[in-house]
Amino acid sequence: MSNAVLSQLVEALRSGAVRVVDLTQPLGPDTPVIELPPIFASSPGFSMEVISRYDDKGPAWYWNTIHLGEHTGTHFDAPVHWITGAQLPDNTLDKIPASKLIGPACVIDCSKEAEADNDFLLTREHVLAWEAAHGRIPPGSWLLMRTDWSKRKGREAFLNIRADGAHSPGFTPDCVRFLAFERDVLGVGVECVGTDAGQAASFDPPFPAHNIMHGSGRFGLASLTNLDQLPPTGAIVIAAPLKIVEGSGSPARVLALVP
Ligand code: MN
Repeated sequence: MSNAVLSQLVEALRSGAVRVVDLTQPLGPDTPVIELPPIFASSPGFSMEVISRYDDKGPAWYWNTIHLGEHTGTHFDAPVHWITGAQLPDNTLDKIPASKLIGPACVIDCSKEAEADNDFLLTREHVLAWEAAHGRIPPGSWLLMRTDWSKRKGREAFLNIRADGAHSPGFTPDCVRFLAFERDVLGVGVECVGTDAGQAASFDPPFPAHNIMHGSGRFGLASLTNLDQLPPTGAIVIAAPLKIVEGSGSPARVLALVP
């Protein structure tokens, strides 16, 4: 049975009946990184220096050294990232079972709402309305929030920071609880710099997509793109972070298989 499934998949990939959509942003020195209040340590962006490039340091080969914070660009958040997940088993990148890095995608289109209101928050009611149209979210799914935020060009528009902090869409605490405990999702994925709304420091609890998701052993995906190319259901997401020992997160090449 499994052999037939995989043979059909290979054929579908070859014929184009199943497409591979890249949900990953390019990773480079211009990749925006989340900004924290100055009392906290900040995470460095991406930088790279050449080790050798077909020169006297290495006449036939080209390679670089890279330097970056774990949570840079399109990346995966592990449960250990938040203090609520600090004591859970298998909470670091090297311990998460590989089987949890693949799951069906449920994509909720919030692009119009996020354009009208940069602080738009997805609620339980929004998710229930989506389910009425598309069916119940299966356990072990990625819940992906499409906002078209990845189409914002440049750091300023992407981070959208004003005098009172960042303004970007996210989830209500009640919605995160619902997704975690009543739908058993793998985690949430967003197009913004982090899984929580820009104003989520003031929520109860603060940063619910971190606090509640990671506190219950679930994951996050941030800075995704091309969510507008996914159907509401039917795609499979492969989100594979680096297997960093004790790692709290890592840039990931996030791919979707789309019928
Ligand atoms: Mn992160």
